[in-house]
Order: sequence, then C-alpha cells, then structure tokens
Amino acid sequence: MAARRLLIKVSGEALGGAAGFGIDPAVLDRIAAAVVAVRAAGAQVALVLGGGNLCRGAELAAAGVDRITGDHMGMLATVMNALALRDALRAKGATAEVFAAHAIATVAEGYTVDKARGLMAAGGIALLAGGTGNPLFTTDTAACLRGIEIGADLVVKATKVDGVYSADPMTDPAATRFDTLTYAEAIDKRLGVMDLTALALCREHAMPVVVCDMAEPGALTKAARGVKVGTWISEEARRWPTS
Ligand code: UDP
Repeated sequence: MAARRLLIKVSGEALGGAAGFGIDPAVLDRIAAAVVAVRAAGAQVALVLGGGNLCRGAELAAAGVDRITGDHMGMLATVMNALALRDALRAKGATAEVFAAHAIATVAEGYTVDKARGLMAAGGIALLAGGTGNPLFTTDTAACLRGIEIGADLVVKATKVDGVYSADPMTDPAATRFDTLTYAEAIDKRLGVMDLTALALCREHAMPVVVCDMAEPGALTKAARGVKVGTWISEEARRWPTS
C-alpha cells in the first residue's frame, strides 16, 4: 500500500445517485463494497461523509432559515449519511462505528482522535460525522482536517466526476482532465476541486489529495496503491507510476 492510512471523503451528491438527493440504496451498497475492498487490500480507513444530498446550510438560508441553523442541519445530515453507510458496511461483515463532532446520546459517540485511530488499528472503519462541528465550514474541510488529525497518508475525495477538469465537463466539451495538480494551481485556477480552506489546510500540512469517481470500480484501491486514478494534488506535480 502506498497509503497505509486513508481518509475517504464521500460527497452527499455521490450518495444521492442519479437523483443527486436522498440516499440511493444501490449506491450505498456499492460504496460500502468499495470501502470494504480497500480495507481488505490492507489500508486503514476512515470516512467523512458530505450531507448535500439531504441539506446544505447555504440553500436553507436562501429559503429563509437562519444560516447558522441551516449549517447545523447540514452537519446533522452528515450524521444520517454516516449511520446509513455504517449499517451498509456492517451488512458486509465490516466493523464500523460513527464518531460525531458533537456526540448525540443514543445515536453517535463523540469523536476523538484516539477513538478513531484505535478503531482503525483494530481493523474497523471509522465514520467521522458532523463535519468540523462548526458552521460556515464544509465537509471537504472536515475531511482534510480529520485526515491530518488521524495521521492519514492521503485524502481521497470520492465524487461523481473522475477527476479535476479545466472547466465543467458537463457544459464545456473542450474541458480537459488534469492528471496531476499542485496545491497552488488548484487554488489559483479556482477549479472548484475543494474550497480554499480545505486546500490551504492540505498545503500547510503537506497532505496529498486524490479526486476520483466513486462509481469507478477499484478507484479507491487504486488510490491507496498509488496507481494512477483521477487527479492527484500535492506540493510538487506528481509523476504517476505507470499502471
Ligand atoms: N457543514 C457545516 N460545517 C462543517 C461541515 C458541513 O456547517 O464543518 C454544513 C454546511 O451547511 C454544508 C452541509 O453541512 O452545506 C453539508 O456539507 P457539504 O455541503 O460539505 O456536503 P457535500 O457537498 O460534500 O455533500
């Protein structure tokens, strides 16, 4: 394994499947299978789930909800996604626990670095829910923060697109995919890979990021093995090993 310990961020959009919202059971099952496979390949695994498939603070604010309240609702949505994925993982025989930024009695234990590391070292999968625990942040930032905290070697952003493009590939046929980017390029070109807070945190702590398509079979395991998949982001442009 090129990455001994992995932090995988799964966007809410990916969980929502074709509809892009709610939780698609087939997608949930596929994600659980991919996570179990990367664990079986030998990597320790923690996950941060997005919540955009259920609600986003900014969207709720536009609909008249107080922004901070909306962000709390968004963070709770990530707990719901984590609970769903925990059960999908358990259904495949994996040991999985949800640790939330704020403990919710009878629902999810509070997160600590030690609990997450302990579970992973024992072969379990840690679902780190509730974002950073603070409004006005994103789950991308939470993923980078938690990845750095737990000593991950790599943050994998598993989404609905197979990497980072020069423009939106859905609307611009001339858009090209980057195999590799530096943090500076990702920030300066404003490619929408992750928010600036998340990218700045990764740059500050030299945490590499791979952006790949959750639906691509074997993508997570490839990322953990250092095999070319999606887009790699780090301080130096990466020379991928030929695969
Ligand atoms: N959120 C927050 N603080 C955090 C993480 C998330 O307030 O540290 C809220 C915010 O409202 C956000 C929502 O939770 O819109 C869902 O997270 P996000 O939009 O990052 O999910 P994704 O787009 O990955 O599905």
